[in-house]
Amino acid sequence: MTLKLTGTVAIVTGASSGIGEATAKELAAHGATVAVVARRKERLDTLVTEIEAAGGAAFAIAIAADITDRAQAEQAVQGVVDRCGRLDVLINNAGLMLLGHVVDTDVEEWERMIAVNQNGLLYMTKAALPHLLTSARDDLRGVADIVNISSIAGRQAWANFAAYNMTKFGVNGFTEALRQEVTKLQVRVGVLEPGAVATELVSQNSQKVQDDLAASDGAAIPVPLQPVDIAESIAFMVTRPARSSIAELWAMPTSQA
Ligand code: NDP
Repeated sequence: MTLKLTGTVAIVTGASSGIGEATAKELAAHGATVAVVARRKERLDTLVTEIEAAGGAAFAIAIAADITDRAQAEQAVQGVVDRCGRLDVLINNAGLMLLGHVVDTDVEEWERMIAVNQNGLLYMTKAALPHLLTSARDDLRGVADIVNISSIAGRQAWANFAAYNMTKFGVNGFTEALRQEVTKLQVRVGVLEPGAVATELVSQNSQKVQDDLAASDGAAIPVPLQPVDIAESIAFMVTRPARSSIAELWAMPTSQA
């Protein structure tokens, strides 16, 4: 059976949990060979086993890499191209959300967050782009894709979120500028901005920050999105016909105004 992504090769960063893990499964179910990238290799190995057992994808590849290290990001991309011969889709999903008042926050936490949310995304994109441009010119789909996972925090700013807001507003700006540079070369560049999704993301914060967040006005989201909801939206973006480019998708839980 020919699926919409049959013959394509996709990289998903931050695939060891949450949105990235669900996205890898979703793209594989559409027929893509999926390379899953994160630091926790044992989780990636389990995911590869699950993807291959589910059928759909030709195969999956686990790549342990810290994308904040430019050499590791470049090697991750090159390793995929060496092994698979092409690259069609890059999902820049890896991210950290470290919250807190500016006056109380360690600068080191900001640096870690900027390193993943912005530098890692830049390194992966820069390394992948020549290969995506090549795939966009061939006959398989006549198009290639980058989807950057931003956030509602790339659209709205709140107290406690200042540095995270800065990283995600930055992702939105970079995405739109790059979109204008390469869309007419058939590389579609889109940004997806989720509201609250039930993942491990908040657990990277101290218990105090998590308690403060839970107690703050408007913080409680009764029914957050599930990772599969975002994965399906990403799959929608990258399976449009070659004539159609989704530049922005804002995906919210119904219970989060
Ligand atoms: P998770 O914490 O479940 O996933 C984050 C992923 O990023 C993990 O797989 C982690 O893997 C990876 N990662 C972190 N640092 C690095 C690094 N240095 N190198 C490689 N991979 C790294 O959270 P989500 O699934 O929720 O987050 C995914 C994206 O969605 C993020 O960009 C986040 O900002 C965004 N988002 C999430 C929302 C939510 O409510 N959950 C809402 C809006 C946006 P490992 O630790 O193994 O390296």
